[in-house]
Amino acid sequence: MKPLFLLLAIFLGLSACDKPTQSSGEDHSVAATTEKPASIDGDSETTDKPDSADDDFVWTPERFADVQIIRYQIPGFDELKPRQKALVYYLVQAGLAGRDILWDQNYRHNLSIRRALEAIMSGEQGSGDEWDALSTYARRVFFSNGIHHHYAGDKFIPGFTKDYFLDLLEAASGELNADAVAAMFDPGLDNKKVSQDATGDLVKDSATNYYDPDITDTEVTAFYAAMEHNDASRPTLLGLNSKVVRLEDGSLAEKRWKVDGMYGEAIAEIITWLEKAVTVAENQAQGDALKLLIEYYKTGSLETWDQYNIAWVTATEGDVDYIQSFIEVYQDPKGYKGAYESIVQIKDFEASRRMQKVANDAQWFEDHSTIDPAHKKDKVVGISYNVVSVAGESGDASPSTPIGVNLPNSNWIRAEHGSKSVSLGNIVNAYGHASDPGLLAEFAHDEEEILLNEEHKELAGKLRTALHEVIGHASGKLEPGVGTPKETLKNYSSPLEEARADLVALYFLMDPKLVEMGLIPSLDVGKAAYDSFILNGLMLQLRRIESGNTIEQAHMRNRQMVAAWVYEKGLAKSDDTFIDSSEAETKDAISKVNLEGKTYFEINDYEKVRSLFGELLKEVQRIKSQGDYQAGQDLIETYGVQVDQDIHQQVLDRSEPLNIPPYGGFINPKLTPVLNEAGEMIDVTVSYPTDFVQQMLEYGRDHSFLPDYN
Ligand SMILES: [Zn+2]
Repeated sequence: MKPLFLLLAIFLGLSACDKPTQSSGEDHSVAATTEKPASIDGDSETTDKPDSADDDFVWTPERFADVQIIRYQIPGFDELKPRQKALVYYLVQAGLAGRDILWDQNYRHNLSIRRALEAIMSGEQGSGDEWDALSTYARRVFFSNGIHHHYAGDKFIPGFTKDYFLDLLEAASGELNADAVAAMFDPGLDNKKVSQDATGDLVKDSATNYYDPDITDTEVTAFYAAMEHNDASRPTLLGLNSKVVRLEDGSLAEKRWKVDGMYGEAIAEIITWLEKAVTVAENQAQGDALKLLIEYYKTGSLETWDQYNIAWVTATEGDVDYIQSFIEVYQDPKGYKGAYESIVQIKDFEASRRMQKVANDAQWFEDHSTIDPAHKKDKVVGISYNVVSVAGESGDASPSTPIGVNLPNSNWIRAEHGSKSVSLGNIVNAYGHASDPGLLAEFAHDEEEILLNEEHKELAGKLRTALHEVIGHASGKLEPGVGTPKETLKNYSSPLEEARADLVALYFLMDPKLVEMGLIPSLDVGKAAYDSFILNGLMLQLRRIESGNTIEQAHMRNRQMVAAWVYEKGLAKSDDTFIDSSEAETKDAISKVNLEGKTYFEINDYEKVRSLFGELLKEVQRIKSQGDYQAGQDLIETYGVQVDQDIHQQVLDRSEPLNIPPYGGFINPKLTPVLNEAGEMIDVTVSYPTDFVQQMLEYGRDHSFLPDYN
């Protein structure tokens, strides 16, 4: 399942379902319903404290190009038992051991280019424009795990000359072969990481290293079509862990990524750390899964990969979990090859308790929802949704990281054994701290809104996520005989489903019940959530769209549809009893205010807005329950697609001087073992490095096991 990525700039109004990447992806909510309930154990009360109490913590130490570097904390780490900390440490080390693999997967010259840049950046820092350009180039390459942009996929253009680079390299006693130098400087060579241009050859035109350079799309299609699944109802993920190469006789073959195959040097290191992890596993199921992962790395068998995934997805006890191996296939133009990644997680005890509390009252929420009684579930069970804290990331998940992950990717395993869906809570939190307060200062209507937001945005965001996931996606039922939303609502099913979940969350965020449950101190939290949702839906999210374009992305369509519908229905002039137009502005539930050529949206009547959210929720649920394609299409097309050109231009013009980088990525915390006199690990300490380049150089020095292949 595609991980959920977050563009830094649009964090306001964030939902954990957000997937700012272009492909619409798959509705995670379906899979999440099959997830096993998270266990809440006795350790939880020890971590019930704010995870960001340290006001001095520098969240954003550095910016370059279009990137903001962010740091994250690991709340709850000190509450883990020493044995659990050791497990986390071993898993993080295993993750780092495979880091080189992703570099080579991204492009065949990446490792050698990285080493050249490491040599230069390790030495004395230069000065002048050309040095600055090179230093920025190196940072961008480190950030992207290669010489192509991590998101857009375009090759970076060096802002310095080849001679300058080669002189520095020589002075640093580094070296780089001629092909790799050409790859860096020749703009006509491998300039797209993953080609999207279907008029060309998607395989040949992509720079990723999953196929030998001269292999074509047609050849790959034929190659895999000829491979038969032994069990069509439980297919293995063909091609997941191999590179396709051309043999001397011209035919194609797979080079497996396994301990005695390709990437074997790095995989051997991964195995070493995983074997240590097995010795401190929290329980039998977790240990058994780790053993199967080791087995997979040894044999490369895709049947073992499936067995491992079944063991992993059913190992739900314990406070430590992880994602490790060749997982997501989005960097392969053919969608077969898994990019190496590692995410090590510990349970976010505080958030888990919040989710549990909400889930325990799932029936109350269903009973008090605004949806038609005929569309309510008689017996609703809250969807288990896990929030975890990341303890370390590597490969495809670092420095740019997802904010949520839903695995495994095999549909039949998901159907038969369930899936794990997690939100990376401390990453989301760090993004929140990193977002530029200047954005709110520019777009918020007044000081009160800013203060409300600053005081409550963290809790508002967390609770909105909890309600959206646990209650929103779990609520409601279809009328008898109506097909699934994918069948009836087709391309509108995804934005409508997200709208439904958002609306459930928004409706209840202003409910006194939440105060009664002890989830929020006052309804001000709900007000902050409303302010931020409306601002984002009507203005801020337009920053992601180029001038003149309409909204394509499903989640953006959902947000604008909801915000624009509520704005329009809340206008006083649509009220029959209203007479005097000069009073219109103050009687609007949400008013559009123009001050000195700038537009602002101000909520005048939160209760009215709440009832409108409720009204729209009822309608969206009706559309889903009855499979009313026409009504769904009308809602989305009328309110979610077209962009107000004047407001759009304003948003672009007013945010441009703020110069907020569109992408964010993270420096990992550093885990250090504490040894006793006998050399045994008795504890692990966490520190938070501040220097991005230093961490990259350290990783290159201490966690690099693959040779230069080119
Ligand atoms: Zn959702």
